[in-house]
Amino acid sequence: MTNVLVNERGAVLINKLLSIDGHENSISRVVTHAHSDHIRDLDKSLTTCKNLVGTPLTLDWLVELGYKIPRDYSIRLDYGSRISIGELKLELVKTLHIPGSSQVVVTDEDGLKIVYTSDFKKPGVHTPILEADILVLDAVYGNPNYVREFDEYIEDILTDLVNQLLSKGPVIIYGYHGKLQEVMKIFRDRGVIAPYVLPPKVYGMTKIAEKYDLRIRDYVLLGSSEGAEVVKSGWFLLFTHVSSSNYIREPRASEVLLSGWEFKKPYRYLGSNRWLVAFSDHADFKGLIHYIINSNPKTVIVNSVRSSYSEIFANEVRRITKKECIVMP
Ligand SMILES: [Zn+2]
Repeated sequence: MTNVLVNERGAVLINKLLSIDGHENSISRVVTHAHSDHIRDLDKSLTTCKNLVGTPLTLDWLVELGYKIPRDYSIRLDYGSRISIGELKLELVKTLHIPGSSQVVVTDEDGLKIVYTSDFKKPGVHTPILEADILVLDAVYGNPNYVREFDEYIEDILTDLVNQLLSKGPVIIYGYHGKLQEVMKIFRDRGVIAPYVLPPKVYGMTKIAEKYDLRIRDYVLLGSSEGAEVVKSGWFLLFTHVSSSNYIREPRASEVLLSGWEFKKPYRYLGSNRWLVAFSDHADFKGLIHYIINSNPKTVIVNSVRSSYSEIFANEVRRITKKECIVMP
């Protein structure tokens, strides 16, 4: 009998064999992507679990983020490949979230299928919706008011804004690791040719992402002689982590903050050449419900540790889909 639980740190646990995106004493630790709320307690897992499973890009990014992971300790699982862990079969399926992101599909010996979606956006378009018996998800936008009507066009809106700002001077983009690389790619795909200037960690992660077919092109390391040349030219985009302070003193520079917590308008002016853009890497409330309806599970488990308004969300799931919905822990 397969047992699915979520512990108080947000780990999804299956039969004491797998602990996904959180720690527990299990055989394998699975990491769906390199965001900090999904690699919680990874150091503990590295000392007690037998192996670490993730996509090759995610595992390489963890090393770049400073984790010491012996090569023979990790199981580098490509999208669509399957491995056995005890009586369970495990597969990672691509999601649109940050490069390397995956959802986890586990099948037990009776054929019971458990899917943990982890973080995703654009379900049914760029994130495959998987059928499941038990569907576990993080309701990041669990409140029915958390809806962005402009989500479909936000890539174009953001690119237009950045092109406009680039005509006046350099532009600094603030975002989380992973989201930065996604946005670099969005701009290139939409014809932005200005060079990118990247601080060391962002530069290292971008180099790794390029190894896995994410074509970014034309980027330089901030602080290198090449970087200094580009900064001097005054025409460039600088991508940096939200928590870092301004690297360059340039009065003409505009700053763009990428935020997942804006719902009314695609962007707004904050004053002093600063803009806030409602660019999220997560499906909104409607997207979460869309996934559940099309996955058609018997049971939905809402992971309250990485959710907002999980009880309200669970009530909405029961009301709209008539499915059993459990909040854990
Ligand atoms: Zn994430």
